[in-house]
Amino acid sequence: LAAKLIDGRKIANEIKDEVKFEVEKMVKEGRRSPSLCVVLVGDDPASKTYIKNKIKACQYTGIESRSIQLPETIKEAELLDVIHGLNNDESVDGILVQLPVPDHITERRVCNAVDPSKDVDGFNVINVGRFCSDQMTFIPATPAGVMEMLRRTGIETFGKNAVVCGRSKNVGMPIAMLLHADGIYETKAGDATTTICHRYTPDDQLRIFTKTADIVVSATGIPKLITADMIKEGATIIDVGINRIKDEETGKTKIVGDVDFNEVANKADLIKVVFCLLMSVFKELRRWDKIIKCHAKICSHMHQMLLRRFYV
Ligand code: ADP
Repeated sequence: LAAKLIDGRKIANEIKDEVKFEVEKMVKEGRRSPSLCVVLVGDDPASKTYIKNKIKACQYTGIESRSIQLPETIKEAELLDVIHGLNNDESVDGILVQLPVPDHITERRVCNAVDPSKDVDGFNVINVGRFCSDQMTFIPATPAGVMEMLRRTGIETFGKNAVVCGRSKNVGMPIAMLLHADGIYETKAGDATTTICHRYTPDDQLRIFTKTADIVVSATGIPKLITADMIKEGATIIDVGINRIKDEETGKTKIVGDVDFNEVANKADLIKVVFCLLMSVFKELRRWDKIIKCHAKICSHMHQMLLRRFYV
């Protein structure tokens, strides 16, 4: 059986068109379009690319966007002031502080400074708490994207075995939360029996777990961690890894995932794998207001991001 590829780009484009439609509807009804503000500290080239793609996706969907670039040397207190200003700015619906921040700034303090109702990354501890209690909130983008890809591809998670490689607070842990938690609650999680593997999982154990998995999600940053012989026939693999490596033939830098794509693809007649190299990111934004309830979604594909808001 040949491997079936989940087309992350196609799913992302579908979502973007849905968001565009919602924004147009809002504007037609006389409401202003939603707005996103992205804050970047320093000028890391990868971060700049991510931000550029987020803004491009906003433009496509009709979402207002702006970015604030701050110097690498900015004091933590000054950055917190910028965030507080955005929290109080009624014209801003979503705030994204691009991570990582420089070492002299405490990431947790920055994440907690973002108003929970504008925290489209879902990194404020209040939103993390809501999420871990199965309550509706902003769900971190990559995990939400993984679930959206599974749902839109019709891959069942209920009662299945899932393995998540990686336990980072922004990626691995929330993916495992969404896969294992109870689907009857607000986060509509996957009800899968979920195993979390991490750097201290011995290789032979990792293999035992992945072999029995119906779904493997890898988010470790280790190229070729997942090879074809570790995968059960008919399993679904979602590769969230983004690794910049040097191509041995051309000498150029290229981006690869955690899964040995060529090996898996070559053995595809033996192993039916649903494989996604590219990452699709999808976010939920929920904002509670006394008069209106406002709901927005952010979606991104390879860090293209967009935001949707509509009144319920
Ligand atoms: P990200 O934020 O993209 O998840 P991090 O670098 O923060 O990336 O986290 C990498 C994760 O991968 C960590 O949770 C780490 O424990 C996990 N990891 C590292 N090596 C292995 C391995 N051999 N098997 C499974 N998980 C691993």
